[in-house]
Amino acid sequence: MASSVTVRAPSSTANLGPGFDVFGLAVDAFFDEITLTKTKEKKVTITTKDNIPTNPNHNTAGLVIQNMIKKFRTKDGIQITIKKEVPAGFGMGSSAASAAAAALAFDKLYRLNLDDNLLVELAGFGEKASAGSVHYDNVAASVLGGFVIVRTDPLDVIKIDPPTSLRMCIAVPKLAVPKKKTKVSRGVIPKKISLSDSIINLSNAAAIVAGFMRKDPEMIGNSIRDVIVEPARQHMIPGFAKVKYNAIEAGAFGVTISGAGPSVIAFSKSSANLKKISAAMEKGFAHAKTDCLTVICKPSKGATKIR
Ligand code: ADP
Repeated sequence: MASSVTVRAPSSTANLGPGFDVFGLAVDAFFDEITLTKTKEKKVTITTKDNIPTNPNHNTAGLVIQNMIKKFRTKDGIQITIKKEVPAGFGMGSSAASAAAAALAFDKLYRLNLDDNLLVELAGFGEKASAGSVHYDNVAASVLGGFVIVRTDPLDVIKIDPPTSLRMCIAVPKLAVPKKKTKVSRGVIPKKISLSDSIINLSNAAAIVAGFMRKDPEMIGNSIRDVIVEPARQHMIPGFAKVKYNAIEAGAFGVTISGAGPSVIAFSKSSANLKKISAAMEKGFAHAKTDCLTVICKPSKGATKIR
């Protein structure tokens, strides 16, 4: 049996507007790479050059591996080497990409052949290290790739292959994000919502699913409309309204906050002028005196063993 395995897992965007805590989409904007190496000393250690916790109890990959060692009663120690590309804390599923790569790498290292749902469940355990609670939208996308719908109690992940012409423009603003950003941004969401708002969100969420089934980027993008979470969170992103307005003026079908933010994501298709949309988003942020990095990307496949 190999003593070392390397897995790459993609970034992801959660929610897609009205699909709060339910929808996820893997995107090929960034990838995390995790190498697991068996060691004689029976403990879990983390090596990384990136600015993330190296205590396994506070690192999503560390939590996943510790939990899997316990669950599958493996006898070795594990050294986790993390090469991060997904920026941490910007709503691009950074903590989830590490967790997803770690879960699949452990599965491959010990040839466990775990099924998709269990892999997602085990990767989701890692999210405790970042968000403080288990949630599966980003990890499901990062493990499985494509578009995912997550149901819980019991966990059930439905995957749909996205249209090949779907494209996204993402603007990652250069902001100092709070340590417990996901917790903070969950705190501003209303506890109660009106029936009329829930009807608007439900109808748009249903249309997003229909858009993925019909392989129709325009139907997906036009349905990225969220009247519940986005209005409550947008004040946390300087220039959000302008970024959104500009992207739509430049031809994007729909724009929303990526996950818990602060990245903003515009949905479009391959034949559109994607550079124009990205430049328009950049201008929107510049209006609020905020620099940003823009990336044009497409849906990604899930976590993959590369060595
Ligand atoms: P994101 O959407 O980027 O995952 P979160 O706020 O959910 O944003 O998670 C980022 C937080 O998780 C940061 O505080 C970071 O220090 C912590 N974290 C723990 N382990 C990791 C990891 N392996 N990769 C990225 N972030 C991690």
